[in-house]
Amino acid sequence: MFVLNVVGLKKVYGSGDLAFTALENIDFSVQEGELAALLGPSGSGKSTLLNCISLILEPTAGRIEMGGKTVYADGRMQVPARRFRRQNIGFIFQGSYLIPFLNVLDNVCLAMELNGRKGKQARERGMELLRYLEMAHRCTSLPGKLSGGETQRVAIARALANNPRLILADEPTASLDTARGLKVMELLKTIAQERQAAVIIVTHDERMIQGFDSVNRLQDGNFQITEQSGS
Ligand code: ADP
Ligand code: MG
Repeated sequence: MFVLNVVGLKKVYGSGDLAFTALENIDFSVQEGELAALLGPSGSGKSTLLNCISLILEPTAGRIEMGGKTVYADGRMQVPARRFRRQNIGFIFQGSYLIPFLNVLDNVCLAMELNGRKGKQARERGMELLRYLEMAHRCTSLPGKLSGGETQRVAIARALANNPRLILADEPTASLDTARGLKVMELLKTIAQERQAAVIIVTHDERMIQGFDSVNRLQDGNFQITEQSGS
């Protein structure tokens, strides 16, 4: 089943003489358990597409469906964007954006609290996620004390907090060396398979996309070829 289906997506920044078309004619689908890469040079529209999918940015035209539900169509959002995002999408940024004065566990729990899950139940789930990411021993550390790889593992735990079917990551390995970057990618692949989530990862680094199920190449706001792995 498709977790995400994007049809004819278009995004224009600005208007009049300053209008700039950042995306045009984008068709893009991702299924349960699929690890998909969005690859392309700087300025090709990767972040614009990811931000449209995550409902942070409103598209100009086209259609976005998630889990069979239409979320954007006919030139407008069809769902309350913020709540839909909070409940259905996990997001991992390039910098982690962990909250510096909250410890590791509280950072993970905050994501659940925003969805109304609080107290003991949230803390138990937070610890379970930290164990899954081998970060339980750091639960009381402040983000400033963590290495780059540890920080990204906490950011992944936070993205999983509400058990989203769709996980989006914008250059999640940009601040890591190759070995640690590949480890984070391995982890995201495992998460896609074990949780039957769709995981979309933006990167400009060809070395990071080993073992991905599909590789989608953007150039100047258009898709070039999409490669599907044989399996
Ligand atoms: P990438 O993530 O692939 O580097 P972006 O999606 O950030 O690319 O940007 C795609 C294009 O859209 C670039 O030419 C960029 O300059 C332009 N762009 C991005 N954000 C804005 C904005 N807020 N206003 C105008 N143009 C923008
Ligand atoms: Mg970008």
